[in-house]
Amino acid sequence: MTVQLTNTQTRDVEALLHPYTNAVTHRATGAHVIERGEGVYVYDDQGNRFLEGMAGLWCCGLGFGDEELIEVAQAQMAKLPYYHLFGGRSHEPAIELAEKIKDLAPGMSRVFYQSSGSEANETQIKLAWYYNNAMGRPDKKKIISRVKGYHGVSIVSASLTGLPYNHKGFDLPVDRIHHTSTPHYFRGAHEGETELEFSTRLAHELEQMILAEGPDTVAAFIAEPVMGAGGVIVPPSGYFEAIGPVLAKYDILCIADEVICGFGRTGEWFGSQRLGMQPTSMSMAKQLTGGYVPLSAVAINADMASVIEGYSGEIGTLGHGFTYGGHPLGCAVGSAAIDIMRRRDIPAHVRSLEGEFQRRLRTYSDNPLVGEARGVGLLGALELTPGGRGTFDPVGKVGAFMAAELLKNGVILRAAGDSIVFCPPMTITADEVEELFAPIENCLNATLHWAK
Ligand code: PLP
Repeated sequence: MTVQLTNTQTRDVEALLHPYTNAVTHRATGAHVIERGEGVYVYDDQGNRFLEGMAGLWCCGLGFGDEELIEVAQAQMAKLPYYHLFGGRSHEPAIELAEKIKDLAPGMSRVFYQSSGSEANETQIKLAWYYNNAMGRPDKKKIISRVKGYHGVSIVSASLTGLPYNHKGFDLPVDRIHHTSTPHYFRGAHEGETELEFSTRLAHELEQMILAEGPDTVAAFIAEPVMGAGGVIVPPSGYFEAIGPVLAKYDILCIADEVICGFGRTGEWFGSQRLGMQPTSMSMAKQLTGGYVPLSAVAINADMASVIEGYSGEIGTLGHGFTYGGHPLGCAVGSAAIDIMRRRDIPAHVRSLEGEFQRRLRTYSDNPLVGEARGVGLLGALELTPGGRGTFDPVGKVGAFMAAELLKNGVILRAAGDSIVFCPPMTITADEVEELFAPIENCLNATLHWAK
């Protein structure tokens, strides 16, 4: 359908190449231009209001327009708008935020900053390689990730990502990266298998992969505690408890990608705490600054820290770092965001809403279009299926239709394949949760009618 583009939309298509966008259809339909945000709502340039059910891209955990974050950003901008941490330089906001991260993240000893989740995971892999070189294990370099995991879009982080559209057209994944199965009980379990049996089987499969590759060649395993962009996939019970000992047995690092799950989203400060994962290092971004300023961080445990610090002494430097890693604005805002989350006890707030949020999601399980309703904390998904179990062909069209219907009804949610995913600002109230769910039933029915 071709529509008459507004002046802004015309300027947009003439000037921008959009991420995750089909440029050909975009040229015909035009951009949806968002102008401002307030609380859980955003407003477009036509004056329409939307409940932002995805907190932007899983990042605006404290909603839009938080006065305290804005004031801290303004003050930091005026005091020291830029400085770096290269060559032993430092600044107070970077130190203060690292201390706060260490206080919250169990077992973590040092913090290394970047600007994005992709850079954090790229850094994780480089540190895993650096660590094994320091340990005199030059062959221990392979990384095991998971099908449907999402870890970013730079060359190595996109290779870690286990989604076909991140590889297609880009000659990815690179070598040294392997993908093990998705821990999705609904899709992956055998007939009659319990969740625990499924978890045990996946841990066995991981061990077989490690043995086939050679344990001396496998450096690290990376996982999101709850898969986000792959469709909000909550692992079956006992999953990380089964995986953990396998990694320990072969001395393999365990990287928790907390880019979505971190900072309260699952009702604990970190998803790894909620899901029973025991990481040796963690990647953080997004909600770290409430999404207001780009900043990411890698936190590593004491063992990794001492080996890496020692090796930098031996070879002369840790030759890695980004110009904007640990930007003072990001660190000051991150520090304030943690203060706000602590003061308002955001993990407790998430837990207080979780029951009703998850119950509401599951009320749609009986809809003929819904194969599975799932989630944890304030993360959720409705997986749309033909007849309760199969997959639509092509994948993604039905989900995209439903997301467009929701938009017409004032709610922004995203389709991950044919799963409609939910990740509202964590500051959402019980009434706003009601408002988020209000149009779902009608939109499901309209989508069902269209898909027939
Ligand atoms: N890791 C996870 C779990 C993510 O969800 C994302 C982005 O959605 C990333 C990494 C990549 O982050 P960025 O887009 O900031 O590079």
